[in-house]
Amino acid sequence: MKYEEPTSQLINFEVTDNVTRTTLRFTKLPSPPLAPSSFGNITEPNQTNIKLHKVIEREGNIVTFETYQAQSCSLQIGETYSFRRLWAPWQLEMAQSNPEQWRKEYFKASDMLAFKNKDGSTIGRKMADGEAIGDGFIVPKGWEHEHCSLCWKTISELESDEHSGYVNNSYWLCQECYDKYITSGFGKKLGDLDPIV
Ligand SMILES: [Zn+2]
Repeated sequence: MKYEEPTSQLINFEVTDNVTRTTLRFTKLPSPPLAPSSFGNITEPNQTNIKLHKVIEREGNIVTFETYQAQSCSLQIGETYSFRRLWAPWQLEMAQSNPEQWRKEYFKASDMLAFKNKDGSTIGRKMADGEAIGDGFIVPKGWEHEHCSLCWKTISELESDEHSGYVNNSYWLCQECYDKYITSGFGKKLGDLDPIV
Protein backbone atom coordinates (compact mmCIF):
# COMPACT_ATOMS: atom_id res chain seq x y z
CA MET A 1 0.00 0.00 0.00
CA LYS A 2 1.33 3.42 -0.91
CA TYR A 3 2.03 5.69 2.01
CA GLU A 4 -0.26 8.69 1.99
CA GLU A 5 0.87 11.82 3.72
CA PRO A 6 -1.66 12.83 6.38
CA THR A 7 -3.57 16.03 5.75
CA SER A 8 -5.40 18.36 8.03
CA GLN A 9 -7.43 21.51 7.89
CA LEU A 10 -6.09 24.80 9.20
CA ILE A 11 -8.55 26.05 11.81
CA ASN A 12 -6.64 28.85 13.47
CA PHE A 13 -3.25 30.54 13.40
CA GLU A 14 -2.06 33.29 15.72
CA VAL A 15 1.23 34.78 16.87
CA THR A 16 1.66 36.36 20.31
CA ASP A 17 4.99 37.34 21.88
CA ASN A 18 7.11 35.15 19.60
CA VAL A 19 4.94 32.12 20.10
CA THR A 20 2.83 30.74 17.27
CA ARG A 21 -0.34 28.86 18.06
CA THR A 22 -1.79 26.70 15.32
CA THR A 23 -4.98 24.65 15.46
CA LEU A 24 -5.57 21.82 12.99
CA ARG A 25 -8.43 19.45 12.38
CA PHE A 26 -7.48 15.96 11.24
CA THR A 27 -9.82 13.53 9.55
CA LYS A 28 -7.79 10.81 11.22
CA LEU A 29 -5.11 11.44 13.84
CA PRO A 30 -1.65 10.31 12.71
CA SER A 31 0.28 8.08 15.11
CA PRO A 32 2.22 9.95 17.81
CA PRO A 33 4.30 11.99 18.29
CA LEU A 34 2.27 14.69 16.49
CA ALA A 35 5.06 17.15 17.20
CA PRO A 36 7.60 18.27 16.20
CA SER A 37 6.12 18.43 12.73
CA SER A 38 5.52 20.69 9.77
CA PHE A 39 2.34 21.69 8.02
CA GLY A 40 1.66 23.26 4.64
CA ASN A 41 2.45 22.70 0.97
CA ILE A 42 5.20 20.30 1.95
CA THR A 43 5.37 18.38 -1.30
CA GLU A 44 5.63 21.41 -3.60
CA PRO A 45 9.00 22.73 -4.75
CA ASN A 46 8.39 26.23 -3.39
CA GLN A 47 6.95 24.93 -0.22
CA THR A 48 5.25 27.19 2.25
CA ASN A 49 5.01 25.55 5.59
CA ILE A 50 4.98 26.27 9.26
CA LYS A 51 6.74 24.44 12.04
CA LEU A 52 4.91 22.91 14.97
CA HIS A 53 6.89 22.28 18.15
CA LYS A 54 4.55 21.00 20.81
CA VAL A 55 0.97 19.82 21.26
CA ILE A 56 -0.73 21.87 23.95
CA GLU A 57 -4.33 20.78 23.53
CA ARG A 58 -6.19 17.93 21.87
CA GLU A 59 -9.89 17.41 21.66
CA GLY A 60 -10.95 14.56 19.44
CA ASN A 61 -9.34 15.26 16.08
CA ILE A 62 -8.72 18.95 16.78
CA VAL A 63 -5.17 19.62 17.91
CA THR A 64 -3.54 22.88 19.00
CA PHE A 65 0.23 23.28 18.68
CA GLU A 66 2.69 25.83 19.96
CA THR A 67 5.84 26.92 18.19
CA TYR A 68 8.45 28.92 20.07
CA GLN A 69 9.03 31.45 17.36
CA ALA A 70 6.97 33.96 15.42
CA GLN A 71 6.10 32.64 11.98
CA SER A 72 4.44 34.21 9.01
CA CYS A 73 1.72 32.15 7.45
CA SER A 74 0.51 32.41 3.89
CA LEU A 75 -1.71 29.36 4.35
CA GLN A 76 -5.44 29.91 4.25
CA ILE A 77 -7.68 29.28 7.24
CA GLY A 78 -10.19 26.57 6.36
CA GLU A 79 -7.95 24.99 3.70
CA THR A 80 -6.44 21.52 3.87
CA TYR A 81 -2.66 20.96 3.67
CA SER A 82 -0.12 18.23 4.28
CA PHE A 83 1.03 17.36 7.77
CA ARG A 84 4.43 15.76 8.32
CA ARG A 85 5.81 14.37 11.54
CA LEU A 86 9.49 15.05 11.95
CA TRP A 87 10.37 12.12 14.20
CA ALA A 88 9.40 8.63 15.26
CA PRO A 89 8.84 8.10 19.01
CA TRP A 90 12.41 6.83 19.60
CA GLN A 91 13.83 9.96 17.99
CA LEU A 92 11.76 12.26 20.17
CA GLU A 93 12.90 10.28 23.18
CA MET A 94 16.47 10.89 22.10
CA ALA A 95 15.91 14.62 21.64
CA GLN A 96 14.50 14.76 25.17
CA SER A 97 17.46 12.97 26.77
CA ASN A 98 20.04 14.51 29.10
CA PRO A 99 23.57 15.57 28.07
CA GLU A 100 25.21 13.10 30.47
CA GLN A 101 23.65 10.17 28.58
CA TRP A 102 25.94 10.96 25.63
CA ARG A 103 29.67 10.85 25.13
CA LYS A 104 31.65 12.48 22.40
CA GLU A 105 33.38 10.11 20.02
CA TYR A 106 35.37 10.20 16.81
CA PHE A 107 34.02 7.79 14.27
CA LYS A 108 36.34 4.94 13.33
CA ALA A 109 35.48 2.43 10.66
CA SER A 110 35.15 -1.09 12.03
CA ASP A 111 34.52 -4.58 10.74
CA MET A 112 31.11 -5.43 9.41
CA LEU A 113 29.40 -8.78 9.77
CA ALA A 114 27.62 -9.36 6.48
CA PHE A 115 25.13 -11.90 5.21
CA LYS A 116 24.11 -12.82 1.69
CA ASN A 117 20.40 -12.67 0.95
CA LYS A 118 18.76 -15.24 -1.33
CA ASP A 119 18.48 -12.63 -4.08
CA GLY A 120 22.27 -12.08 -4.00
CA SER A 121 22.17 -8.78 -2.15
CA THR A 122 24.15 -8.28 1.04
CA ILE A 123 23.11 -6.93 4.38
CA GLY A 124 25.46 -6.16 7.21
CA ARG A 125 25.77 -4.74 10.65
CA LYS A 126 28.51 -3.45 12.87
CA MET A 127 30.31 -6.43 14.31
CA ALA A 128 30.33 -6.70 18.08
CA ASP A 129 33.49 -7.72 19.94
CA GLY A 130 33.94 -11.48 19.88
CA GLU A 131 30.74 -12.03 17.91
CA ALA A 132 30.34 -15.44 16.26
CA ILE A 133 30.39 -15.26 12.48
CA GLY A 134 27.83 -18.04 11.90
CA ASP A 135 26.87 -18.18 8.23
CA GLY A 136 27.94 -14.60 7.67
CA PHE A 137 31.30 -13.18 6.59
CA ILE A 138 33.47 -10.32 7.74
CA VAL A 139 33.98 -7.21 5.64
CA PRO A 140 37.11 -5.58 7.11
CA LYS A 141 36.42 -1.92 7.95
CA GLY A 142 33.10 -2.41 6.18
CA TRP A 143 31.16 -0.46 8.79
CA GLU A 144 32.29 2.92 7.55
CA HIS A 145 29.64 5.42 8.54
CA GLU A 146 26.86 6.26 10.94
CA HIS A 147 23.92 8.64 10.65
CA CYS A 148 22.78 11.27 13.06
CA SER A 149 19.60 9.83 14.58
CA LEU A 150 17.77 13.15 14.36
CA CYS A 151 18.81 14.76 11.05
CA TRP A 152 20.38 11.77 9.27
CA LYS A 153 23.66 13.60 8.55
CA THR A 154 26.51 11.17 7.79
CA ILE A 155 29.33 10.76 10.31
CA SER A 156 32.40 8.97 8.93
CA GLU A 157 36.15 9.18 8.38
CA LEU A 158 35.62 10.71 4.93
CA GLU A 159 36.78 14.27 4.32
CA SER A 160 33.34 15.46 3.26
CA ASP A 161 31.50 14.13 6.32
CA GLU A 162 31.50 15.04 9.97
CA HIS A 163 34.09 13.02 11.88
CA SER A 164 32.73 13.07 15.37
CA GLY A 165 29.44 12.98 17.18
CA TYR A 166 27.79 11.93 20.41
CA VAL A 167 27.06 8.31 21.17
CA ASN A 168 24.45 6.64 23.37
CA ASN A 169 24.48 2.85 23.02
CA SER A 170 24.63 2.45 19.25
CA TYR A 171 22.88 5.74 18.46
CA TRP A 172 24.74 8.76 17.11
CA LEU A 173 23.96 12.46 17.12
CA CYS A 174 25.80 15.11 15.11
CA GLN A 175 27.31 18.09 16.90
CA GLU A 176 24.63 20.44 15.59
CA CYS A 177 21.71 18.33 16.84
CA TYR A 178 23.45 17.69 20.16
CA ASP A 179 23.82 21.44 20.71
CA LYS A 180 20.40 22.31 19.34
CA TYR A 181 18.31 19.75 21.25
CA ILE A 182 20.34 18.25 24.11
CA THR A 183 22.64 20.84 25.67
CA SER A 184 20.14 23.67 25.18
CA GLY A 185 17.30 21.62 26.68
CA PHE A 186 15.17 22.55 23.66
CA GLY A 187 14.39 18.90 22.96
CA LYS A 188 12.47 18.68 26.22
CA LYS A 189 10.15 21.46 25.03
CA LEU A 190 9.15 19.46 21.95
CA GLY A 191 6.63 16.71 21.62
CA ASP A 192 3.14 15.41 22.01
CA LEU A 193 0.62 15.93 24.80
CA ASP A 194 1.28 12.52 26.32
CA PRO A 195 4.84 11.68 27.34
CA ILE A 196 6.43 8.91 25.33
CA VAL A 197 6.45 5.55 27.04
ZN1 LIG B 1 21.97 15.86 13.37
